[in-house]
Amino acid sequence: MNSPARALTSLRITSIMLIHCLAVMAGCSGISRGDSLFADSARQAERDRMVDEQIVSSGVKDSVVLTAMRRVPRHKFVPARYSTIAYHDVPLPISHGQTISQPSLVALMTEKLALQGAKKVLEIGTGSGYQAAVLAEIVPHVFTIEIIEPLMTEATRTLTELGYRNIHTRVGDGYQGWPEEAPFDAIIVTAAIDHVPQPLLDQLAVGGRLILPIGRYYQTLELYRRTAEGYERKIITLVRFVPLVREQQQE
Ligand code: SAH
Repeated sequence: MNSPARALTSLRITSIMLIHCLAVMAGCSGISRGDSLFADSARQAERDRMVDEQIVSSGVKDSVVLTAMRRVPRHKFVPARYSTIAYHDVPLPISHGQTISQPSLVALMTEKLALQGAKKVLEIGTGSGYQAAVLAEIVPHVFTIEIIEPLMTEATRTLTELGYRNIHTRVGDGYQGWPEEAPFDAIIVTAAIDHVPQPLLDQLAVGGRLILPIGRYYQTLELYRRTAEGYERKIITLVRFVPLVREQQQE
């Protein structure tokens, strides 16, 4: 055998051995449900591409947020039939007629909450649990409320399987917030409403921020910051969210 052919053969043998070792490692590390180290690293590459090509270019700069977006496996939060497009920058249907927001919007809303030093964050509208996971990568305690019980059951299963231990859940109408745990350093509402719920403003710590979509069909994404004197309000952009549903339609 001439030497280039020998080099090629030895390269092939090395690659086969490497593949074999990785496959054995995947088996040993207990990765289940057909996943493997190969699949995980392919998904990581997809996430990195999503961050580099879609989220950064959408204007999000906060490195803490970008790191969280690189870490959370969005494909675990979407129905299996959408798994292949889990890292496209699009909202996707989850069950019960609800949607998981597009990644660049999740990143934008998270960035606007300015979470440096935040300890407790409240989310209204758990849905798939994806936004809660992104928050849980950044702050010590996430509280999240979902009105549709089966969605919360599913989200809790996903979050537990992924090892999130700092997400506290409640089934009910998030309009009332979570008074026993207030004040919150930040509150995020991921369903649309035509006015700002007073209980959420009340449960914000001084210096804390509330972000939410205000409006009916299309909404303006609004950011409130509680100051010692009152609240500052800022309009961020136009968005489209599913509506916030009230348990009893009295306000
Ligand atoms: N943040 C979610 C997506 C939210 S979709 C994610 O990352 O996947 C909006 C969610 O808000 C839906 O799951 C809907 O059931 C829920 N929702 C609607 N009205 C609500 C209310 N009053 N309180 C709590 N959750 C509500």
